Amino acid sequence: MKDLHIHTECSCDSEAKMEDYISEAKRKGIETICFTDHVDWNSNDYGYHYYEPDTFWERFRAVKNESDGGIEVLAGFEFGEPHLYQEQLTELAKYPYDLIIGSIHWIGDMFPCQQVREQYSAKEFFTLYWQEVLKTVQAGGFDVLGHIDFPKRYYGEIYYTEAVMKEIFSTLVEKDMILEINTSSLRKGHTQTMPGKELLEIYQANGGKYVTIGSDAHVVEDIGADYKAAKSMIEDIGLQEVVCRQRKRQIIS
Ligand SMILES: [Zn+2]
Ligand SMILES: [Zn+2]
Repeated sequence: MKDLHIHTECSCDSEAKMEDYISEAKRKGIETICFTDHVDWNSNDYGYHYYEPDTFWERFRAVKNESDGGIEVLAGFEFGEPHLYQEQLTELAKYPYDLIIGSIHWIGDMFPCQQVREQYSAKEFFTLYWQEVLKTVQAGGFDVLGHIDFPKRYYGEIYYTEAVMKEIFSTLVEKDMILEINTSSLRKGHTQTMPGKELLEIYQANGGKYVTIGSDAHVVEDIGADYKAAKSMIEDIGLQEVVCRQRKRQIIS
């Protein structure tokens, strides 16, 4: 088992400690974990200016030193809307992170909260969302695209056209970046991971081969959640799970 998307107290919306995740991961038999705290430059986000790389690295190095082996602990971050903050991204990427997840949470000042859902249908919101995703994939600078169909977690449904997905996935592959399978939607009562099987098949049809799997845990108990469901889905489709170390992909058999 691996879990490459985990939030700690270095994120504005988590109080979980790295050492507690490590103990829980060992208890669950998880071999590799990666801490990926939020980095947000959108001033509407609660996490705006919250992340401190030096604090992260201080905590990370301390738990790495104290950890008595038996588990691989990697360092990463989840960067919101990379295409809009490329300078900040380049600056942060100078630290020796293993993995950078790029995620779209915001479209300007819009988050898929209830108020926005009352104003925009799923079709309208997703149409705007895919344009942001495409821009961020075109801009690049990260390794893994996080929870590609994120509004699904709020709308409970998805809208897309083959054409737009094709454009996003072929650009992703061209840029040598990959998709994440994020299992947090399953904990919110949805039946599909983000993305689900349909989008993964379009990804594969457009040259996508690799994925990472992450729980998006914000509390210790959620580490590794629904890993097996995600793993068996990618095995059915024929995609390969990878781990990123020092920002290089390594295939897991
Ligand atoms: Zn996210
Ligand atoms: Zn996250």
